[in-house]
Amino acid sequence: MHHNEDADTDAETINEDVAAASIDKQIEAELAEFAAEEAERLGLKRDQWVEPVNQHFVRSQRDTTTMLVSGLTMAHDKLVCASFTQLGYKVEQMDSPDNAALQFGKEFGNRAQCNPTYYTVGNLVKHLVGLRDDQGMSTEDIVNNFLFITAGACGPCRFGTYVTEYRKALRDAGFDGFRVMLFQQQGGLKQATGEELGLEVNREFCIGIVTALMAGDCINLMGYRLRPYELQEGTTNAAIAECHDIMMDTFSSGTSVVRGLWKCRKVLGKVKVDRSHPKPKVSIIGEFWAMTTEGEGNYELQKFLESEGAEVDIQPVVNWLLFMVWENGYDTKQRMHLRKADHNAKKALGDSNPTKKLWLLGVADRAIRSIFQTYAHAIGLYGYHLPDMDEIAEIAKPFYDNNVRGGEAHMEVGKLVHFVEDKVNHMTVSVKPFGCMPSSGVSDGIQSIITAKWPEAIFLPIETTGDGAVNVYSRVQMMLFKARNKAKDEFDQALEQSVMDEESFKIKLEKSRYGKYPFWQPAHKQAGVATNLVYALS
Ligand code: SF4
Repeated sequence: MHHNEDADTDAETINEDVAAASIDKQIEAELAEFAAEEAERLGLKRDQWVEPVNQHFVRSQRDTTTMLVSGLTMAHDKLVCASFTQLGYKVEQMDSPDNAALQFGKEFGNRAQCNPTYYTVGNLVKHLVGLRDDQGMSTEDIVNNFLFITAGACGPCRFGTYVTEYRKALRDAGFDGFRVMLFQQQGGLKQATGEELGLEVNREFCIGIVTALMAGDCINLMGYRLRPYELQEGTTNAAIAECHDIMMDTFSSGTSVVRGLWKCRKVLGKVKVDRSHPKPKVSIIGEFWAMTTEGEGNYELQKFLESEGAEVDIQPVVNWLLFMVWENGYDTKQRMHLRKADHNAKKALGDSNPTKKLWLLGVADRAIRSIFQTYAHAIGLYGYHLPDMDEIAEIAKPFYDNNVRGGEAHMEVGKLVHFVEDKVNHMTVSVKPFGCMPSSGVSDGIQSIITAKWPEAIFLPIETTGDGAVNVYSRVQMMLFKARNKAKDEFDQALEQSVMDEESFKIKLEKSRYGKYPFWQPAHKQAGVATNLVYALS
């Protein structure tokens, strides 16, 4: 009897639970229905947004399709275009982004983007508007016969969303369906229709880009080395322009890059220089695009510094290639020790052999360095050292975690420490674009720890908003005053140690190979070339 009472109580409890669950479900259903009705009534019901992407570019369209290229320096863009021409593409180089491009970017882009997004996206819109409004081309012709080619990435900063920004701005500017092609998206040999791809990202394509970038770097570096010391104003720029033409011919005809650079060396060798005066050496670092561009995107900072009597130390694009190799190696070394199989993540090692992968990355690193040095020596760029990426990572590590990526990752921090410790320059300017996520953390945040620990560093972060150029210039001038003094002190000290006065040093220099050939670089002891020449001749 007692047993049956217990069973009845259990059954009742179960029935009550079932009833409660069904009431809960009913309430939830009613709530969901009510929420849907309200969303509908308030106009909040939206389908998932799917970006319409037009990637249709097939081989048969190659002759009638112009690929627009822009993004780096003039030298890089010109040589990349020439390399594409050699591969059979029709290309056109766009102008360097200016403040008018920034306005287009702001008008048609999303709010709260970083400045380089506005400049680069706006530059494309500006170009297309020019084709339509100034050259009278129809929108249909522009959309059908042009496309823009750019490099893509997954971010983690806004760089990952650039491509979507391009498409959004183009759509809003009236160029709906305009094709923006990413290198990384191309792959496979056939389109879904069975037609061959218009843009083939194959071995030749990649080698063409990489070699064009490295040759562009060498030309730029030579320009920045000679220009501050030229005896006759304008001779370096004229020689550099000639080098651009020589190398464009070289790349578009597919002839030897080394031979082309050797021809450039002869042109550059005619530039007469006087390196007997100390000049402040100023490195420009910061966000990749902002420090690289030579236009209004960074207030033409390189030109301004040179006009103020500085020698500018630019960061070549090849550093970025080396960083990508380093990044891959670093991640592989970490992943290979994971306890569980590494299959699902985007960068998963899967079944690949990590030791082999690391070996291949080592080969890639050495190959990039040796091609670069071959090019550098061919054009006369002696004594230029590419940074050791492991070393930069190591010195940056205590202040900026090597796992934090986006923007320049730890590189900006590592470079500043390296510049001070190894006496690379007299001053460092960091270009921080307005609205840049990584730069806010690095230039404003971490670098203040570095300058506190290395107080001898003359460091100036500047923010690029597109306006307020006078403000930026005056801040640069103030810091440059200190850098100029530093360069002069270092030079005077070298003369004193070498028991030479300025006049006897000048005479000695003129007679030496360093004085006769602008390519000869003295061994590195201090930041300034004049100081190093004193030591070399003492
Ligand atoms: S690094 Fe800064 S400026 Fe450059 S894409 Fe990322 S957020 Fe923009």
